[in-house]
Amino acid sequence: MKPAARQPKPRSVPLMKKRAPSTGAKRPTRAEAEAAVRTLIRWAGDDPDREGLLGTPSRVARAYEEFFAGYGEDPVTILQRTFEETDGYDEMVVLRDIRFESHCEHHMVPIIGRAHIAYLPRRRVIGISKLARVLEVYSRRLQIQEKLTAQIANTINEVLQPRGVGVVIDASHQCMTTRGVHKPGMSMVTSHMIGTFRSDPRTRREFLAIIGSPASVQLGNV
Ligand SMILES: [Zn+2]
Repeated sequence: MKPAARQPKPRSVPLMKKRAPSTGAKRPTRAEAEAAVRTLIRWAGDDPDREGLLGTPSRVARAYEEFFAGYGEDPVTILQRTFEETDGYDEMVVLRDIRFESHCEHHMVPIIGRAHIAYLPRRRVIGISKLARVLEVYSRRLQIQEKLTAQIANTINEVLQPRGVGVVIDASHQCMTTRGVHKPGMSMVTSHMIGTFRSDPRTRREFLAIIGSPASVQLGNV
């Protein structure tokens, strides 16, 4: 991976529309959320009033605040502080092997994996930690892996307007490993390529070689 250029001057890009999804209905209260957890405990066949479970509804509600903190954050705002003075740096910037945790929107159980995010700057570059923050915001929402992959790539593309963006995610879904088909060890790879990452096989190959990507993606399954 090539290092980013030396500390350039920050620059703001025009504010874009917020992307946090609308919840549609009024948000339930904390008490209502905890009552729902009690219902699920009863439905699973246990007694929410036994000692070991007494604090569970409040712990689950707190865990949800953490798991789903991404609804309260706007990834576009995170990317808006960009740098233009890059000493002509125009090579690929890659952040690889970023571990993330998300939750599948079909079963609300964890998706755990690694993401690799790359872009080819046009004029602007971004602090590298911001790429990881965008992943974090989108992964702390109910997701499917395909949507998560596309949202990250599209947001970087819209805000930075680079020559290209590539995102590859390799993750295992606990809805596949702990229930249903019970296939532990299986992981799913998704990729979303935009601009030169899609149109230029050399750029795509360079990215995939840097991240040591699975053969299926190398073969052009993008
Ligand atoms: Zn699922």
